[in-house]
Amino acid sequence: MKYDAAVVGAGPAGSIAAQSLSTRGHSTVIIDPCDTKKVCAGVLTARYAGRYPVDENYIQRELKGIKLSFKGICGEISYRKAVEYSIDRDLFDSMNLAQALENGSELLKERVLSITEEGTGIKIQTNKNKYLADHVIIAAGVCELSQLFGGTKQYAYCTQQVISQEPGDHFEMELFPGGYSWKVPKKENVLSGTSSIKCYPDIPGEKGLIPVNGPVKRTYSRKMLLAGDAAGFVSPFDGEGIYYATRSGEIAAQVLSGAISGNNDLSEYEKCWKKEFDFLTPGKISRLLSSDIVLEAFVREIRDNEIFNKVVEDILTHESEKNKTKYILSLIKKLI
Ligand SMILES: Cc1cc2nc3c(=O)[nH]c(=O)nc-3n(C[C@H](O)[C@H](O)[C@H](O)COP(=O)(O)OP(=O)(O)OC[C@H]3O[C@@H](n4cnc5c(N)ncnc54)[C@H](O)[C@@H]3O)c2cc1C
Repeated sequence: MKYDAAVVGAGPAGSIAAQSLSTRGHSTVIIDPCDTKKVCAGVLTARYAGRYPVDENYIQRELKGIKLSFKGICGEISYRKAVEYSIDRDLFDSMNLAQALENGSELLKERVLSITEEGTGIKIQTNKNKYLADHVIIAAGVCELSQLFGGTKQYAYCTQQVISQEPGDHFEMELFPGGYSWKVPKKENVLSGTSSIKCYPDIPGEKGLIPVNGPVKRTYSRKMLLAGDAAGFVSPFDGEGIYYATRSGEIAAQVLSGAISGNNDLSEYEKCWKKEFDFLTPGKISRLLSSDIVLEAFVREIRDNEIFNKVVEDILTHESEKNKTKYILSLIKKLI
């Protein structure tokens, strides 16, 4: 059998793409060994919650704001309207995948080893078998397979662990030049992690990689699309990736569906996500965020300047602007 579309990876990007393709009547297979635990702080941002339904089954805690600190200076932002959620990430992913299967996608619990064009279609070789599809969406996150097809190669190293601490109701972020640590309250404890652009932080815990340099140069080819982390769709300011994975999965499915029906080609994908996502110039952001002066001024203003505090809140929760990275950058520039 030849599928209309094969989706490699069952994270949010892959599952949402598959949901959307099978709803549109395209024969769709998702391929993922489903054997790795996702390393993630599990914050569903206000941007996500403002656009997508949130299921109470995977919610662990409602987050009322964010506490930022730098060298002992602490600033707190309390959300006036928006809500963010601390979630059980494994359950979130498995519910998204279950929905894709309910919509008619097929699941193969296998690892993709190679993808090659063969005749008019694409051959997908897994650790167990070979499959044929007309198109492929690569939503395999940061991994060697994604990299073979232009996927992201620049990432930060993260380590996280559960600590026994009374959970509060704020997301906590401690900034340091070149990285940050975070604490996310869960149902009964706290998930704490650290990221660094140099190497894995020397602390015990689960390890994961997060793209840091924005979108890759090219996210489509004649028969393939890259979505989610594979394409580098993560906010370089705070590591938000679930929203972008979900939304890029949707856009990829919409464009692919158009291509299958002969209405457009896959280059349309890049036009569509560029209209919505603007990660600006992550290089500039990481340079600024590597500066003690900038970080100190940023947190101090959040602590001492009520107007600045509210502006950052609006940006983080998207009450006023669609592009938080751009506005955070312009605010930081004004500070120095
Ligand atoms: C420590 C850490 C904390 C984070 N915290 C947050 C947060 O709080 N909020 C937020 O919004 N974002 C967060 N992120 C980012 C977020 O986790 C990612 O942006 C998001 O998971 C990307 O989704 P995805 O579907 O693109 O890829 P993934 O979720 O990584 O899914 C990729 C899938 O591909 C599969 N796969 C890999 N290789 C193959 C292969 N060869 N064959 C078949 N399948 C394969 C994997 O098994 C996996 O299921 C965090 C990331 C890290 C590392």
